[in-house]
Amino acid sequence: MAAKDVRRCVSCRRLAPRQEFWRVVRLADSRRVVWDQGDRRAMGRAAYVCPCLPCVAEAQKKRRLERALKTPVPATLWPDLWAQVQGQVGDSPVCNPN
Ligand SMILES: [Zn+2]
Repeated sequence: MAAKDVRRCVSCRRLAPRQEFWRVVRLADSRRVVWDQGDRRAMGRAAYVCPCLPCVAEAQKKRRLERALKTPVPATLWPDLWAQVQGQVGDSPVCNPN
């Protein structure tokens, strides 16, 4: 894995290949913040979070994505993340919030 493909979780600071994270992007053109679900062509400033409950909770509670992206994250983004993370309970990737 090339070093340039390593990313850091905004919550637990874990380093891992970017495919292991969820990618949230502030689009370069509209400045809208979206969850990039596989479309790597979504261009803009990106932040990464582990696809696990502790890290999503931390990111929301402590506004980690807002800080990383330097812009407000729409409230409508969170239900999408939560729905996905709750569907993974018992099957989620390793996650180390501390
Ligand atoms: Zn994490």
